Amino acid sequence: MPERKKDLISIIVPCYNEQAAIPFFYKEIDRVSQEMKEETDFELLFVDDGSKDGTVREVKKLIEQDSRVHIVSFSRNFGKEAAIFAGLAQACGDVVAVMDCDLQHPPECLPEIVRKFEEGCGVISMVRTKNKSAGLIKNITSAGFYRVINALSDVKFEPNASDFFAISKEAAEVLRKNYREKVRFLRGYVQSIGFQKTTITYEAHDRVAGESKYSIKKLLAFSLNTI
Ligand code: UDP
Ligand code: MG
Repeated sequence: MPERKKDLISIIVPCYNEQAAIPFFYKEIDRVSQEMKEETDFELLFVDDGSKDGTVREVKKLIEQDSRVHIVSFSRNFGKEAAIFAGLAQACGDVVAVMDCDLQHPPECLPEIVRKFEEGCGVISMVRTKNKSAGLIKNITSAGFYRVINALSDVKFEPNASDFFAISKEAAEVLRKNYREKVRFLRGYVQSIGFQKTTITYEAHDRVAGESKYSIKKLLAFSLNTI
């Protein structure tokens, strides 16, 4: 019987001052990728969003030992959404997953993501079951944001959809070509581009190392910009 071609999954990881988290993240991804190695090849795209710490150095260490690891580096901090778009521009995968570096988006979900992709889903939104580490203020800002956006928009957005998601190569191409605005709201875009959609629920863990890059000021600015 001819051998079935393996799927390639690209993992895009936006990183801003993540030197402490990168080794943990890589270790987990590597472990899960070994478990999936019969069906799936991996490509790891770290996007350094103008970090001031040793983020680039940590990724370069990985590049020396693992040919699946790549880096895109920004000259200054442009923000997570810009970093994800830069990763998308480089991603070659049949399926592309976007994940935070701090392990709040659990790599254990990757086998189920690939399964949904193989069933024909082009947009796989990851829905948090709980987000205790986010804190009260962030949860309130987030709930208010979705209430406003759903009142204004024809497309209905899943309130708990996180910025952990996966899309097919075709869906990635739609984002690359048609969503090049300066103010971006990627987790919303992915829900509006068509394709067969599904959700997977996951439990958000606490950040593995380092600290959140979002101050209340930054969060409010993002919400106002997006609306
Ligand atoms: N991040 C980024 N650029 C920024 C802020 C954050 O690339 O300007 C990355 C960060 O390194 C992490 C992800 O976006 O991989 C989510 O950030 P964080 O964990 O600080 O957000 P939170 O979990 O607190 O929402
Ligand atoms: Mg986080």
